[in-house]
Amino acid sequence: MTDTTTLEQTKQSATTILDHWVDGKTWAGSSTRTAPVYNPALGTVQREVRLASTADVDQAVASASAAWAQWRDSSISKRTAVLFAFRELLNARKQELAEILTSEHGKVLSDALGEIARGMEVVEFACGLGHLTKGAYSENVSTGVDVYTLKQPLGVVGIISPFNFPAMVPLWFFSIALAAGNAVILKPSEKDPSAANWMAALLKEAGLPDGVLNVVHGDKESVDALLEHPDVRAISFVGSTPIAKYVYETATGHGKRVQALGGAKNHMLVLPDADLDLAADAAVNAGFGSAGERCMAISVVLAVDTIADEFVTKVSERMATLRTGDGTRGSDMGPLITEVHRDKVASYIDVAAADGASVVVDGRGIEVDGDPDGFWLGPTLIDNVPTSSSVYLDEIFGPVLSVVRIDGYEEGLGIINSSQYGNGTAIFTNDGGAARRFQREVHVGMIGINVPIPVPVAYHSFGGWKASLFGDAKAYGPHGFDFFTQEKAVTSRWLDPSHGGLNLGFPQHD
Ligand code: NAD
Repeated sequence: MTDTTTLEQTKQSATTILDHWVDGKTWAGSSTRTAPVYNPALGTVQREVRLASTADVDQAVASASAAWAQWRDSSISKRTAVLFAFRELLNARKQELAEILTSEHGKVLSDALGEIARGMEVVEFACGLGHLTKGAYSENVSTGVDVYTLKQPLGVVGIISPFNFPAMVPLWFFSIALAAGNAVILKPSEKDPSAANWMAALLKEAGLPDGVLNVVHGDKESVDALLEHPDVRAISFVGSTPIAKYVYETATGHGKRVQALGGAKNHMLVLPDADLDLAADAAVNAGFGSAGERCMAISVVLAVDTIADEFVTKVSERMATLRTGDGTRGSDMGPLITEVHRDKVASYIDVAAADGASVVVDGRGIEVDGDPDGFWLGPTLIDNVPTSSSVYLDEIFGPVLSVVRIDGYEEGLGIINSSQYGNGTAIFTNDGGAARRFQREVHVGMIGINVPIPVPVAYHSFGGWKASLFGDAKAYGPHGFDFFTQEKAVTSRWLDPSHGGLNLGFPQHD
């Protein structure tokens, strides 16, 4: 079988039912359960995806455990060479992957390419992972005794990813996990699962030995099987806060290392001295990009009263120029992931009106450049949102931007710090002192100063505070490497006859 046919077969099998990917090939497993995968721009089911049983997960873990025995002993240069080849293939074929993302997620093609680019950054980081493997060395800590550290892989690790970044989030984790010498079970979202198989086939083409990365599709049953499996050493999860908390508690209860990234409600604080045109551009881009289905989307603008009217006008003027439609047709914004989710997001517009907020732009019933059965909701702007309303409190995860009016910096900071979430936030100001105070005082993991979506580059790490991250390891960057390795401290003395003799006391240095 040539590498090209492997990829081709992945695509063909996806036209009916998407299988798992185990031991370097598609695999049906034993479960007969499946779930529909929609094209959200058409509103139709385009394929089914298998939902693994516990026995299927067991088999995938057994395959990964067997493959790990050799992968962990392959040299750093051999492992990173695979990642390097993968990066080159991914870059050459990213359009193909972007089309898969658009057809199953709905995000517009340019945004899908952006997702891939940000994921590819982490692959590039993983190609140079060797420099992080350098441990510490202390010579002669005691006479003739040296101490040094080793960083070793964990074994089989599980990655459970959300629907909103079907390529980037798996890339965040598996690139570093593999380069560090682990074997991986990837359980992608069942809503848009094909990207995972496509990337697994590409890794094979890049030279990854069979079984080192297996893709298991599924729902709660497969997730629980991974959380409880004795041979899975660590879990990297990204998804909504209630599931992140459940995953963290269950997997740590089974003795695993866990990083579980949860939901978000990201605030943008606009001070009166900000450039309001730039701030309005930023709010629109960060509020409606990917139809608001980003964990770093701006969903609340905190606007100081003195500039709030002008700011809301500028935002609504820009919204009128956005084109919502099929992601393959050059639109600015695509559909939502499912009909159920679209209806839930849209229901907040009525809640807003009932809670005394003003609906400035209502995205229901807008004209779209796409099939009428697609899961559409246009950009929506709600002003004067009370912080007691569920419109403010809930993670809506759609194209609904709320404006909360405040009297100044202190009130804005207090609102942000009272939120249960702490993923990202941004301040728009031309006052360096205010920005510096903000970065010190705000209880949020990722902060933008005149930058609306402050996703750190791959050589820093990504993660929020509070209910946006359970566990103490962020994703990718140095945290990612630490998460996927365990450290040993070696105390070494090459024997010398002068060190003989019995002494039962606790070792001390001489
Ligand atoms: P989700 O929590 O519904 O699903 C995430 C994963 O968990 C999927 O693989 C899914 O199959 C699995 N899952 C769902 N229900 C489960 C259950 N009851 N038991 C076990 N597993 C279960 O999230 P989603 O809707 O796919 O993704 C959107 C959410 O992800 C949003 O809340 C968003 O903020 C969050 N997110 C966070 C980040 C971050 O970095 N903090 C990044 C992307 C997305």
